Amino acid sequence: METSTTTARLYEEATAHVEQAAIALDMDPKVRRILSAPKTELIINFPVLRDDGEYEILQGYRIQHNNVLGPYKGGMRFHPAVDLDEVRALATWMTFKCALMQLPFGGAKGGVAIDPHTLSDGELERVVRRFTHALGDNIGPEFDIPAPDAGSDARMMGWMMDTYLNSRGPGERQNDRRVVTGKPVELGGSAGREEATGRGAAYALRHLYGEFDRSLDGGTTAIQGFGNVGTHAAYALHELGMKVVAIADVTGVVYDAKGLDIEKLDAHRTASGGVADYIDADALTSDEFFALDVDVLVPAALESQITARNVDSVRAHVILEAANGPVTTEAAAVLEHGGVHVIPDILANAGGVVVSYYEWVQNKTSDRWSATDVGVRLRNSIWGAADRVAARREERGCTRRQAAYMEAAELLERAYSLRGIFP
Ligand code: NAD
Repeated sequence: METSTTTARLYEEATAHVEQAAIALDMDPKVRRILSAPKTELIINFPVLRDDGEYEILQGYRIQHNNVLGPYKGGMRFHPAVDLDEVRALATWMTFKCALMQLPFGGAKGGVAIDPHTLSDGELERVVRRFTHALGDNIGPEFDIPAPDAGSDARMMGWMMDTYLNSRGPGERQNDRRVVTGKPVELGGSAGREEATGRGAAYALRHLYGEFDRSLDGGTTAIQGFGNVGTHAAYALHELGMKVVAIADVTGVVYDAKGLDIEKLDAHRTASGGVADYIDADALTSDEFFALDVDVLVPAALESQITARNVDSVRAHVILEAANGPVTTEAAAVLEHGGVHVIPDILANAGGVVVSYYEWVQNKTSDRWSATDVGVRLRNSIWGAADRVAARREERGCTRRQAAYMEAAELLERAYSLRGIFP
């Protein structure tokens, strides 16, 4: 079990968000203690057969933070830097995201410390299936429901679902596809799930933009991350009339002051594996990317990207946190002090779990909702939460992040007070 100082700090920040909300709400100390630590932590070492005939032992995690509002819910990350503290932080944020969105779910997160891009298709499938098998009954349609996160996708969720369902005995929910969300549509996935997180971020931005005294139409944006979230955010922000002037991913940064052609860049990324070497734009360094003079900066890659090291160079007017935890607490304080608006992750990227909930409901009722229906419901859900955050912020004179945590924490405390805590 290894954790790095970076992820240890990340988990400290996640618990500090909870603590701050608890203090502001004068929360019952018993509930505060419960919310300050995950309920269950699983570390699973499992063997995987590589194509060269060798076995490798991989480490996987599932952290179930809280389930007072409903089954545990949260993504599975496949990335070499995954460790216990990172997953603890991500699981904590899921509890508060689900509560903020008033979903009947708790919070969890999991992952495997591996770079999926270094594996063949066969190796990747074996990793997913062995990990799912090792998780056994620690996941389930009414207990803990995984979904995609960084480094995982719909195809991997299909393998996860298949492995789980195939290991059920007769009469044991062999067809309960709710066990995983973010599946391919053909396997019971929801229309609109793939694009939900990026689109949801754009809905949040559009709804709150009136507060920022600027017009979205003709505004500029720069997006870090061109995976699931970043790509769909780019399309959605472009549809709102914004010029996407820069996109960064792990391979490099591309920039065009006139606005990038998202479709062309998307095709280039699909063909070559990243944005690097795209010929219709200039290349920038990562430091130049964060210093761009844009209206909206969208970190949609990984956590801890805007830190004490680079925050002073940020010139954007709004930070839309499409990734989880992309701005450290120290950097956020500098931004807020400088009048930069931060739309916090538990609101900005909640679209994914909201549509995962829609998928779960559709599977439960054997129903199918259209993409339009899903889109309208998602928009209303994000707008509702954005209104609650705005009202709380107005009432308390606090940051949007603090307001979002207070909204969520109040519901969680209320649930404990109504259910009671087992003596
Ligand atoms: P992804 O794996 O599909 O894409 C990640 C992107 O980030 C890739 O383009 C990658 O090249 C880029 N990236 C990675 N490291 C980078 C670096 N150091 N510098 C620049 N770019 C880098 O992942 P995703 O599903 O799009 O998730 C992105 C973020 O959004 C994560 O924080 C994730 O937790 C969060 N999120 C995802 C979902 C979802 O539905 N997938 C939902 C909510 C939140």
